[in-house]
Amino acid sequence: MKKHNFSAGPSILPREAIEATAQAVLDFNNSGLSVMEVSHRGKDFDAVMQEARELVKELLSVPEGYSVLFLGGGASMQFCMVPYNLLEKKAAYLNTGTWASKAIKEARGFGEVVEVASSKDANFSYIPKNYTVPDDADYFHITTNNTIFGTELSEDPKVKPYLVADMSSDIFSRPVDISRYGLIYAGAQKNLSCAGVTLVIVRDDVLVKVPRYIPSMLSYKIHIENGSMYNTPPCLPVYTALQTMKWLKANGGVTGAQKRNKAKAEILYKEIERNKLFKGTAATEDRSLMNVCFVMNEEYQALEKDFLDFAQSRGMVGLKGHRSVGGFRASIYNAMPVESVQALIDTMKEFESKH
Ligand SMILES: *Cc1c(COP(=O)(O)O)cnc(C)c1O
Repeated sequence: MKKHNFSAGPSILPREAIEATAQAVLDFNNSGLSVMEVSHRGKDFDAVMQEARELVKELLSVPEGYSVLFLGGGASMQFCMVPYNLLEKKAAYLNTGTWASKAIKEARGFGEVVEVASSKDANFSYIPKNYTVPDDADYFHITTNNTIFGTELSEDPKVKPYLVADMSSDIFSRPVDISRYGLIYAGAQKNLSCAGVTLVIVRDDVLVKVPRYIPSMLSYKIHIENGSMYNTPPCLPVYTALQTMKWLKANGGVTGAQKRNKAKAEILYKEIERNKLFKGTAATEDRSLMNVCFVMNEEYQALEKDFLDFAQSRGMVGLKGHRSVGGFRASIYNAMPVESVQALIDTMKEFESKH
């Protein structure tokens, strides 16, 4: 049976990227060797790293003066690496969910942290709007898409300090005005690659300020100077990231992705609103195009497990909501075809007709 992969992360990747990776695992560039067993400093892998860097710049229109890094440690490592390298005295953070809360916790170890607003009071079901960011903050940290709670910032906040963003679950899903950002990071396993690599885009001039000693492996500057090869990079995940970006480029880039993502999310939210069994959990104006969170309406609560089983019998995978929200979460990242979203909608309709 055809599977429809709605997992939140690791999650669906383009078939083309998976097949190209499978091929290179067996035979990389007709070398008779696997991409897993060649030197990261050899000319073939070096070309992969370079092309990956260039494609990030091209797809996101990264201006001059920025560096692109592929690092280990996951997005969670960035929660400490960001303040380690950028927080001199005071940083501002917007608390929009579990990941933002973790980023705040780490930053507190490096200086004053101003939590400018939080939506914790309503289980992070909305993005706070009216808040003030101190002009003298070193940076303002946001989480552009809240993977667990299904909310997404629809526009960049206009504030004086430069922005730092965790874009783990919406990178490459839409165009971004990179010039507003001092640093962007994204764990790869949602929209880019398999787990194991984290993309960082950093404006070089933000790295000069902090006086503290930074351990080499946690220093952006050292990773930049070494072209992401200060130590052995996660070669295979970088290879897969390159294949995903090639697929994206061939399919209209981030503008094309945004158009498809809007269309997919729109039909799914429309069905959630129409269907008597379900209701969405995120505030309408803040709903994510990537992670669609919904629950059973009160009078149908008892059917939650039945729906998951029914959906599974129709080939749907990964629909169970995060434990902190409950219900269901359909992650519909770039690689998710509209046909799979339609299959989910048909499943919801069919289940409704039985009850
Ligand atoms: C998944 C996720 C993370 C954590 O990523 P790791 O690579 O597991 O550290 C952080 N932030 C966001 C927004 C995420 O979706």
